[in-house]
Amino acid sequence: FFRSLEEEGINLNKQQIEATRHFDGPALVLAGAGSGKTRVLTSRTGYLISVKKVNPKTIMLVTFTKKAADEMKTRISQLPGLTKQITNTITVGTFHSIFYRLLKSRGYNQQVLSSEKRKQLTVKLILKEKNLNDSYEPETLLAILSSFKNKMQSIDDFPSKTSVEKEIKEILQKYEYWKKDNNLIDFDDMLLEAYHLLKKDEQLLQSMQVRFNYILCDEWQDTNPIQFELIKLISKPNNNLFVVGDDDQTIYTFNGADSSIILKFEKLYPNTKVITLDINYRSTASIIGLANQVIEFNQFRNKKTLIATNTSENPPYYLRPNSTDDEAIKIIEKITMDVQNGSRCYSDFVILHRTNSSSRAIFDQLVIKGIPFITYTKGETFYEQNIVKPVIDHLRLSLQPADVQAIETILPTLFINRSKGIYHIEAEQLLNPVKKPIKHLLSLHGLRDFQKKQIQDRVKLIENLKDLKPVQAIKRIRDSYDNYLEANERKNITLHKEMVLETLAEIEASAAKFNTVAEYVAFIDDVIEKNKEMETIRRVPDANAISLMTIHRSKGLEYPVVFLTGASEGILPHSSALEANDRKDLISADKGLKKVTTAIEEERRLAYVAITRAKQELYVSSPAYYRGEQVEISRFILDPFTPEKERSDSNIRNKSDKKHNRVLIWDCTSDTCNGWMKITTHEETLEKNRQCPMCKGIMEQGVRFV
Ligand code: ATP
Ligand code: MG
Repeated sequence: FFRSLEEEGINLNKQQIEATRHFDGPALVLAGAGSGKTRVLTSRTGYLISVKKVNPKTIMLVTFTKKAADEMKTRISQLPGLTKQITNTITVGTFHSIFYRLLKSRGYNQQVLSSEKRKQLTVKLILKEKNLNDSYEPETLLAILSSFKNKMQSIDDFPSKTSVEKEIKEILQKYEYWKKDNNLIDFDDMLLEAYHLLKKDEQLLQSMQVRFNYILCDEWQDTNPIQFELIKLISKPNNNLFVVGDDDQTIYTFNGADSSIILKFEKLYPNTKVITLDINYRSTASIIGLANQVIEFNQFRNKKTLIATNTSENPPYYLRPNSTDDEAIKIIEKITMDVQNGSRCYSDFVILHRTNSSSRAIFDQLVIKGIPFITYTKGETFYEQNIVKPVIDHLRLSLQPADVQAIETILPTLFINRSKGIYHIEAEQLLNPVKKPIKHLLSLHGLRDFQKKQIQDRVKLIENLKDLKPVQAIKRIRDSYDNYLEANERKNITLHKEMVLETLAEIEASAAKFNTVAEYVAFIDDVIEKNKEMETIRRVPDANAISLMTIHRSKGLEYPVVFLTGASEGILPHSSALEANDRKDLISADKGLKKVTTAIEEERRLAYVAITRAKQELYVSSPAYYRGEQVEISRFILDPFTPEKERSDSNIRNKSDKKHNRVLIWDCTSDTCNGWMKITTHEETLEKNRQCPMCKGIMEQGVRFV
């Protein structure tokens, strides 16, 4: 079997073979990124069928995303001796797809509610009904509900002590009723329902246990409690359970994942066979060198070091652009250069970002330059988002006072009911058309004096906006409805408040490079329109396009070239993690296992995941200014190269302190080079006349990092 695998070009090393050969009982493959865990899963599936003559129908493979499941199916069908027909009888899928199938087989006939948009819209409608539409973000409420369910709780377990808690509970309960009434089921419900069903129906459980005698799970470190319970149930009594994972890649703690789930596995199954893999086959040695040095600073981890097989000289590159907009321009320049000279195609590249709002600049630039890219978010531009739209619509109104749609979006900021306000304006406009229809609001029935004053102030503000610099204009708009934002903040939960503030700061940042409001609005309209045109590209499967995604999304994937954007303090690590760190919060603690991890550690794992996606080239960039504030280079990049006492987390120690590495940057002084510098993690003698890998010109300087 192994020889024929090799003939197909599927090599396995000694440890991988040992893992593949594992037959009965629980096994855990614990290994770093790119060490072939996923390859072991597929190879073992082939081994079970071809060598151990296991009935393929009794095998279940669980992955994290549909994309990963599809890829796994393709890989399995390419294994020697496995036809497509055989592969099709294996159950390969995400937790959701597998357990939804189970529910369906038992007569559950609910439709799957998979559209995030539809969920949000429904919550929005409920909020509207309760006249709370400007008090809560649907996304936040849905996230709360989801985190409850992932911990095997229902909305009835939600606290209802404070008035805000009560309000949230009511909204979410209503949402749950709506789903029931409409015969809908969402992803979280599927797992809970399946769990209750299996607990209730002993016979069904037994048949599942017999049917799926061999269970294999990928990305085990991000399994949440409900998923773990389900797997535990159906793998009984034989416990032929084979899981692979990397505790350094736990990045879904907010979703109930807990890196100690790996340790819990060994505790639960004391006869677990544990296999470690330590050779990385994905990335070049210098990329792995950087990854190892970054993750080494996490205190709570199973220590392991990855050794790279690819000894190619290609080092990671580094850039310190002034802003995220400059960062975007530099990245696109580099990609365009490589595509034009034929060395790469668009689909070789992935651009990773920490949060969706931090991808605004790169999204704008890609759209404006007409470069094909695939995004995994809703696909709408930053400027069309809930919080952003009213701000921009103030600017629009200053240019086009008769834009009634724009008036409608800003009504909530004046504490005026949208439909009531717009109905009034439209009716008045028919009788008495004026140049500035917003003025009709003054004759709205039942206005109090302070509201009238507010409307008058706002009309004046809008009149003055168009002559201001865009950044100034946005500041004024914010000030003018500060009380509205504040009222929202008071009502809301932290997550929402943070998101609002972040988004507002990002609007200001986006306006910074424009001189007039007219130019800025024209740019925004251009982005929105071009983005609509590009939507068709995004729907083509396997399009030759750049991938743009969050680090979370990139888990398990690999790309020839990776750009890690926003490696600056406040972006990665995210500001919320820095605050949690100041408060000394622990995001996950398990007393029994004496295991704690902090928000900073989770962010460091994100940096590690991002770096280890790269096969051949890695580009890390740290904007010097972020949303108008100067920001330091991310501690994750700096720590390995900074003496202990100068580090941001002075309590962190690592072994390399003794041999303290100095980082060198080869700085190319040529005008033609676009400024990416080489990061080396070892002290190097400064050679003269070294060739710049970017422009092939001569590099003259070796400079120290920072
Ligand atoms: P991650 O932690 O990111 O999910 P992983 O451990 O699952 O990574 P894989 O995706 O299975 O790693 O493998 C990484 C890359 O190395 C893949 O391109 C895979 O085909 C290749 N690979 C794995 N094992 C070997 C091997 N023994 N020889 C050559 N290439 C290998
Ligand atoms: Mg994998």
